[in-house]
Amino acid sequence: MCASALLGACAIKPPPTNAAPDESPTAEGTSSSPSPESNVPSSPTAGSASPATTAPDASPEAVPAVGIVGTNHNATAAAYAVPAATVHTWLTTKTGPATRTAFLTFDDGPSVITPQVLDTLKQLSVPATFFVIGRYLELNPAITQRAMAEGHAICLHSYSHDYTYLYPGRAGNVVNITADYDHALAVATRVLGPTYAPGGYRYPGGHMSWTGLEAADAALAQRNVSWIDWNCMSGDADKKPPANPDQALANLTSTFTAYGSPSAAVLLNHDSHGAHVTLATLPRFVQFFRDRGYAFGVIG
Ligand SMILES: [Zn+2]
Repeated sequence: MCASALLGACAIKPPPTNAAPDESPTAEGTSSSPSPESNVPSSPTAGSASPATTAPDASPEAVPAVGIVGTNHNATAAAYAVPAATVHTWLTTKTGPATRTAFLTFDDGPSVITPQVLDTLKQLSVPATFFVIGRYLELNPAITQRAMAEGHAICLHSYSHDYTYLYPGRAGNVVNITADYDHALAVATRVLGPTYAPGGYRYPGGHMSWTGLEAADAALAQRNVSWIDWNCMSGDADKKPPANPDQALANLTSTFTAYGSPSAAVLLNHDSHGAHVTLATLPRFVQFFRDRGYAFGVIG
């Protein structure tokens, strides 16, 4: 499948955080380019799942590590976590494991909808990988702490999600990308503990959408981080997103099939605040993979 057919990541304005959804940057010449998306952060307390023992105004530095030392997940998730470098290789070489494995991924949170996603995943007993935006993580730390505590993995998806800053002229700017990444990592280590160490990074818009990322890829590799795109999607951040679960499932089916029914399926979804169709379709996404014999993993 051509890269453009899988485009589905969103466009989000940089701070100020209450800005209107981005309408500008798109992957030119593509039929399904990164789309405008409302992604105004929730209030810091909305949907919070903070333990009752945690004071609301506790310093982030007081938060202990909630995962295994040197990872992006906890001990429970260690049983089904796959190193990001392995997933990266599967995606870029169109290979996969002998045991079919599905990776549900959610970009652009945390938001007010993320706790509902977590509730649904818990009901389904399925783990996922959250590619969080640093500036939203700052506003909603407890949601992502809860996600890790419940057996999900946390990777980074930039601090700013600002296409113009990260990709001026549509080409990667290594200085800006690495500074932005390091900023996001600093936030995440304050929220998730000083030993937080993600292995995966998802470029805003997707690696497939931009040129000139070689230097940034190398800078990430020096940080033991592999970039992760996707090979199937619900289209929930397209310019014309699915209007209902039937359409969302049809998008998964068509993209999954077009990619050749990969044994390592990486499904792009979003948990930004408007992703209600995605939330409603989650049980059917999970059933889709279970019907085809997939187990569920997270990206370590
Ligand atoms: Zn995104």
